[in-house]
Amino acid sequence: MFTLRNGVFCSGRAELTYWKEQDPLHKDHTFSKDQQTRLFGQLMGEQAFRSALSKMIQSPVQIIFTSNRSTLISVRTNSKGEKTLRLQHAFRAADFTTMQALAFFVDGKGFNPQTIDNFLSKKQDLVKFFSRSGAKMQSVVYKGKFRDLEKVLKKVTSDYGLGVIDIRIAWSKPGNTRGKRRSIRFGSFSASQKLIRIHPALDSPAIPDYFVEFVVYHELLHAIFPPQQTGKGGRRRIHTPKFRALEKMFQQYDNAIKFELEFINSRLG
Ligand SMILES: [Zn+2]
Repeated sequence: MFTLRNGVFCSGRAELTYWKEQDPLHKDHTFSKDQQTRLFGQLMGEQAFRSALSKMIQSPVQIIFTSNRSTLISVRTNSKGEKTLRLQHAFRAADFTTMQALAFFVDGKGFNPQTIDNFLSKKQDLVKFFSRSGAKMQSVVYKGKFRDLEKVLKKVTSDYGLGVIDIRIAWSKPGNTRGKRRSIRFGSFSASQKLIRIHPALDSPAIPDYFVEFVVYHELLHAIFPPQQTGKGGRRRIHTPKFRALEKMFQQYDNAIKFELEFINSRLG
């Protein structure tokens, strides 16, 4: 049912793609609530899965979950040697042996396709579930080199007693930092994805911890206080006075603001 299509590993680019053979009978399946609960019960959280898997992989890797029907795994290496692994969501049910096979797959050595075959054969209903045509669950994470964002998120939520659940955090994609930028957006929050993204420029030993914590704290406040509409047809207020007051509760607020200005000035200089 599953076949490995082998690309070439060479110095510049490498690509390995794992296909599910075209199945003409494959249709959208509907799953009952009970079936869905059972399926979801097998899955690791996206962030937990990414951090576990990227620890097993030897180089920095960006892991993207897909809802693909045919290409269930692929890995690409760009000219800088940065790797991108695309995995169908079903892999979040992987056991240790399967994860190890995935790591070998990315590192391009000692890979045993049989392990992946066995896993996919056992988890066919998950593969089908995530192959729904309507499923849009793609998300992206770049594994930082210096900082563990999940740790920062945990620290900030506990330091400030912020009762947020289900919020995920990720580095935004590197790149697009060249050219004239008048400002730099350090963080963002997507309410629909419940995802905080942090600019990869902050993944540097030159950036003090308190500054990264401040950016995460700011984005968490967005998660807690959605933008407000002022009056009828009024403009959306994102940073309300209440928001700004809470922002100032950050323990090293003055230092953080000072650092932000210095950082931006040094970039523009
Ligand atoms: Zn903001």
